[in-house]
Amino acid sequence: MIRIEHIGIAVKDLAAAEETYARLLGTPCYKRERVESEGVVTAFFQVGPNKIELLESTREDGPIAKAIAKRGEGVHHIAFEVADIRAEMARLTAEGFTLLNAEPKRGADNKLVCFVHPREANGVLIELTQEARD
Ligand code: ZN
Repeated sequence: MIRIEHIGIAVKDLAAAEETYARLLGTPCYKRERVESEGVVTAFFQVGPNKIELLESTREDGPIAKAIAKRGEGVHHIAFEVADIRAEMARLTAEGFTLLNAEPKRGADNKLVCFVHPREANGVLIELTQEARD
């Protein structure tokens, strides 16, 4: 894996969290994006070479709404940039990790993404992310 690309944070109120993180980081949100397939609306902040992704659920049964119902707001996932997402998915499967999607899917920020089950990663949801090349 190349680096930590971003840290995803589940929030209840994106507008309020955006204001908080703009003050915390001393930099404004540079992009908002709705990912309908994931049931989220996101706000991105650049912090040096890494990003913070705030995620608010757009529906009651979405993954972010479920995570907040279970554990409250807070860190939701850590995303690692990879050079070849399919190769990395195959490597992790061979290493005994469980992938949450069998094929890379289109995530926010023009990325191909795949999630790795937190069960084999000490309770941390892992996201693999590769720049989409189209
Ligand atoms: Zn993410």
